[in-house]
Formats: sequence, structure tokens, C-alpha cells
Amino acid sequence: MTWTAQVLTLYPEMFPGPLGHSLAGKALADGLWRLETLDIREYASDKHRSVDDTPAGGGPGMVMRADVLARAIDAARQSAHRDRPLIYLTPRGRLFDQSRAKELARGEGATLICGRFEGTDQRVLEAREVEEISLGDYVLSGGEPAAIAVLDSVIRLLPGVVGDPEALSDESFERGLLEYPQYTRPQIWEGRDIPEVLTSGDHGRIAAWRRQKAEESTRRRRPDLWARHVGGGEEKEGQEQ
Ligand code: SAH
Repeated sequence: MTWTAQVLTLYPEMFPGPLGHSLAGKALADGLWRLETLDIREYASDKHRSVDDTPAGGGPGMVMRADVLARAIDAARQSAHRDRPLIYLTPRGRLFDQSRAKELARGEGATLICGRFEGTDQRVLEAREVEEISLGDYVLSGGEPAAIAVLDSVIRLLPGVVGDPEALSDESFERGLLEYPQYTRPQIWEGRDIPEVLTSGDHGRIAAWRRQKAEESTRRRRPDLWARHVGGGEEKEGQEQ
């Protein structure tokens, strides 16, 4: 069963977009994953093919209609296994992270709904039991870039996509830490040397150095991750001095 991404969007021409290039693009061409896009507008019923209306209660902008989106979701779920995750990208969702990416990669695919306008009628999200996922605490103009980011993170975890699986085991978030800093030739650039240990050929020392740097960066840059790493989930650690 090939991992299949279904994307519901008002802008199907945005796909595969970046996912058609480089690692994900090659994997798509090689049949390691599949992409189906559904144009939400195709499921509009009136002659203006309207997909949005003004917000109940007033306020600026427009809201995606429950009836139109529900028809698009139901059509998508007919061609897909109904137990695949059904996800709406929204800043109101649970923060997306590497462990959710891994779970998705272990499954058979996902259906992703891209919002636009001020948002989507909450009733359809509840009625279809949609999982709400956010990319981060900022507002995009649409769900498409978020869907592309989620898919990119999942696709690179699919078997055979990254040539050397070891490249995945050392990465940021793998052990609850950020990755150590990376260097490559030239040996000296603008008067700055590559750290001596990395050119020593001593694999034990290199591993210890990388571990130490990973811990240092995590502690300084991401006290939230660090607190979880050392405290097993307790958030009592404050900011670094
Ligand atoms: N008024 C909404 C934002 C709408 S932005 C609010 O304040 O919550 C328009 C669409 O972009 C959303 O429906 C959602 O699909 C998408 N989007 C915006 N920011 C996002 C984020 N951080 N993560 C995932 N999707 C996002």
C-alpha cells in the first residue's frame, strides 16, 4: 500500500509545488508516495460556486461553509481508507511535531484540509471528527504551506526516501535534543577554523563533542525541550541565565 496524501484545497495548482522537487519530488516520481488533490470548489452547489460566507456574529472576512467542505471530505473519504487520519491545518490546532510526523509515516496516508479566509465553520470539523493541527504560533494566509510542510516532514521518513537511514537517527528532536552544529570544507573560512575535534579522526571524541554541543544548544535555545529532556515532562526549569 503506497502512502497516499489527499489534499483538499481551493488552490490545487499549489500542489505538488515544493513537494515535486528534490527528495520528495524524486520519491513521488519513484512511486514511494502518492498525491491526490481535491478542489473544494468542485463541491459547491450554487451557480456562483461559492465556498464561503460572512461570519455568524459579524466581524471581518469570510468563513468556509460547512456543507461544501463536508461534501469534499465525504468524497475524499470514499476513495480512501476511512481510518486514515483526517487533518485540518489551523493555528487553533495542536502543535505539530516530529513524533506526530513519525506516527503519520507509519500509517498508510492522510487527508489534509487546507483552510482559507478567516477560518472554517466549526460544525463540519466536529461532525467529521477532524483532527486540528497547527504548524506554530503564527498566522498563515492559507493551509496550503502548512500542508506542504507537514507532508514534507512525513515523506522524508517513508521507507526508501532517504538513502541512508542513519541520516534520520541523529537529527534534531530524535533524542529530545536539537542537533549538534555542522561544518564542512574549506578548513578555514574568513579566519574561522572547523572545530579541531572534528578533524581529529577520533570517533569517540567526536561523538562526545557532538553530544555536548547538542545538549548545550538545547539548553540555551529551547529551555522547553531541555526541561522535558532532563525532567521527563516537568516544566519547572526556568530560562537560561
Ligand atoms: N482567523 C484565523 C486564521 C485564518 S488564516 C485565526 O485567527 O485562527 C487562514 C487559514 O490558514 C486557516 O484556516 C488555516 O487553514 C491556515 N493557517 C493559518 N495559520 C496556520 C498555522 N499556524 N498552522 C496551520 N494552518 C494555518
